[in-house]
This record gives sequence, structure tokens and C-alpha cells, in this order.
Amino acid sequence: MKVLCFQPHNDDCIIAIGGTMQKMAKKAWELTYVYITDGRHGSDVIPPEKLARIRRAEAREERSLLGIQHYVELGVEDGCIGKLRGRRLESVKQEIGSTLMVNKADLIFIPTRSDMHPDHRATHDLVVEVVEDMKLTALLVKYFIWLFPDFYRKLPDVAERVLMVGIDQEMTQKAAAIRLHQSQVSKGSFDSMVETLNAYLAYAFRAPASIGAGYVEIIGLSGSGHNARKTNELLRTLEPCADITEVFHGRPSQRIRAQLQG
Ligand SMILES: [Zn+2]
Repeated sequence: MKVLCFQPHNDDCIIAIGGTMQKMAKKAWELTYVYITDGRHGSDVIPPEKLARIRRAEAREERSLLGIQHYVELGVEDGCIGKLRGRRLESVKQEIGSTLMVNKADLIFIPTRSDMHPDHRATHDLVVEVVEDMKLTALLVKYFIWLFPDFYRKLPDVAERVLMVGIDQEMTQKAAAIRLHQSQVSKGSFDSMVETLNAYLAYAFRAPASIGAGYVEIIGLSGSGHNARKTNELLRTLEPCADITEVFHGRPSQRIRAQLQG
């Protein structure tokens, strides 16, 4: 299977789905990273041009640790994806389109639209727009980077299936890969934050009892209805893994509605 991982900043995918990606890589799925920005503004002390070079080197180290051979850099200035206009916007859309055309991905990973970071949301919107323009039927897989998506209100993003993926076997390597983004980890202990977040999600969704996992990542599927074969292959590859769609869309939303009415 071929997988395109669109990420606004070059540490987003490892933070959000580092365990999920390792599982796919272990099954020899062909993963390609698409870095939308060069992350030049991700520091208060390192000048932008220098930081872009440092972050490119950090990203290379992460790819080599995880065995990810392919990548595409679009070189957009971070903080500006949603502000692109005119010819620059068209050329970025064209680059996304030609990447999709050449790669012929079975799965396309993008940040959820519910993410609060403007670059993350803009990446979602941009890729979805190009995918729809090209009438592609690939399976879209949505991930969140730090903040929990607002699935309860079903706005502004909906995933028709929400999966919880156990990553106990992959957690150590995931944290090590995050630490390779030294320029970012020196600002905040993202490796420890991610370990805590993945453990929190496991307990919040009772993963220790249901799938025997102490760390989990959560992803949302869009387009699984007409991608049954790819969805089943993904479910097999991500084991241990559980469908928690009901928890997101079912019971809690009913309870919230009842509370509002009562
Ligand atoms: Zn980011």
C-alpha cells in the first residue's frame, strides 16, 4: 500500500501518528512525507534561514530512523499556509496535485480540520480541495497533533470511523524520533508530552482493558465506505486497534443533547 503523509510542520506526523506510521512501515508499506512548510519560524532564538536548514537535517534523521525513503518539500513559510493567495496559492496546489498524481496513494494522511493551529487546519483544507478537484477516491485518514478534535459537535470536521491504535511496541522509538527534532524539543519537552498524551488517551478510552494497550493514537477515517478493502487492510496492520466511533459520535452526543434539553 502507498501512503502520503501531509504535514504542515516536519514534526507533526511523528507527534500525532509516530506509532501508526511505524506499524505501516514494518509491513513494508511505502510511506512518503509531504512537508508543507520549512518551519523557519519555529524558534525565538535561531534566525529563520538557519532554522530551516537545521530542521531539514532533523527531519532527515527522523526519516532514516523510521526507514522512510521518500519525501517532498513544498517550502512554504510556516504561519502562512492559510494566507496563500494568487499565483503562489495556485503553484502550491499544483505541487500537491502533481504529488498526488505521481504517488497514486491508497491512503492520504492529513491533520483534522478541528485542530486549532491555523497551519494545521489550512493543510487539511488545501489537500481536501485538491483531492476533490481531482475526484480521487483515496482513503483519507485524519490525525490531530496536540489538541483533541471537536468530534462531539460534529463540527467542523467529521470522521465516519474513529480508530484507537495501540502503540506500546512503538512508543520508545516514537519518543526517540521526536527527540531528533532537537530544535523543537529544546523549546518544550514534546517527547514527554506525547508519551503523557498517548497514555491519557489510552485511559480515557479504556484501552488497557479493551485492547491491552497503555499508549494509543487516535485517527479518523473519511471515505472508508467506498474503500472497504483498504480500510480492512489498515485495520489489520494497526492491530491492536479498536473502532471507537460510537464513543465519539454516539453516546456522548446523545447525553450532551439530553443534558441541554433537560
Ligand atoms: Zn504543526
